[in-house]
Amino acid sequence: MDAVALVPAAGRGVRLGAGVPKALVRVRGRSLLSRAVRGLLDSGSVSRVVVAAPADQLGPMTREVHEFGDRVHVVPGGGERTDSVRAALEAADRLVSSLGTVLVHDAARAFTPARVIRDVVAAVEHGACAVVPTLPVADTVKRIDSEGVVAETVDRSLLRTVQTPQGFTAEVLREAYGAAEDAATDDAGLVERMGYPVRTVEGDTHALKVTSSFDLAVAEAVLAAEPTSAAELSAARPDVPVRPPEEADSGRNGDVS
Ligand code: C5P
Repeated sequence: MDAVALVPAAGRGVRLGAGVPKALVRVRGRSLLSRAVRGLLDSGSVSRVVVAAPADQLGPMTREVHEFGDRVHVVPGGGERTDSVRAALEAADRLVSSLGTVLVHDAARAFTPARVIRDVVAAVEHGACAVVPTLPVADTVKRIDSEGVVAETVDRSLLRTVQTPQGFTAEVLREAYGAAEDAATDDAGLVERMGYPVRTVEGDTHALKVTSSFDLAVAEAVLAAEPTSAAELSAARPDVPVRPPEEADSGRNGDVS
């Protein structure tokens, strides 16, 4: 059974300072929201997506995902990410008669490779009740005291940073959100509190969360170095004519999700 993905996209993106909600920020002509949704659907493991949008941006966000037809629904999100995920989960329960695997995926992680999405879904389908993609910590990590003085150098060998999509059985995610009384930055954190094991799969640096203008610049640079469709180039620079794909350089034969 294919997974249903919930995409919290109701953040204001204040840290990005783009003047529009972060999910509507475009990278090479395509919004982060459109890229995130397309990546999920193109992974082959996700059949439906429910997007939580800012309540005053339902129109623009619905237009952004129009091309995906009735596989994508847009609902109003809430004040905190937790509220947005809860709203999307309730909508998914209304839309799909019996939810199986549910992913929660930040719109801001618009460049997550299909392999990560597929691995998370597969881990849930093979019996895990909660799964997160992780990466080892590259930097040395230190704990500081309240004066800002280093108190300890932490052994980083067992530390991981955590990405999305995070995958759950619908029952466990419902239970975690039913019990959640405060905001959480991470859905698996709510599941951990319930005492359930959270398994890990390998994440990917491309699944970075676009938070700052520096992250956007990194995303632009990564996309510039990778195969890009003529349609996407045209959308990015409508003033510049684009050669059809068959005339384009060899290897420029696809798009990046
Ligand atoms: O702000 P931050 O980047 O941590 O948000 C992570 C994700 O949660 C983003 O995709 C953002 O749009 C979403 N979010 C939400 N509702 C909120 C706040 C954030 O859907 N109220």
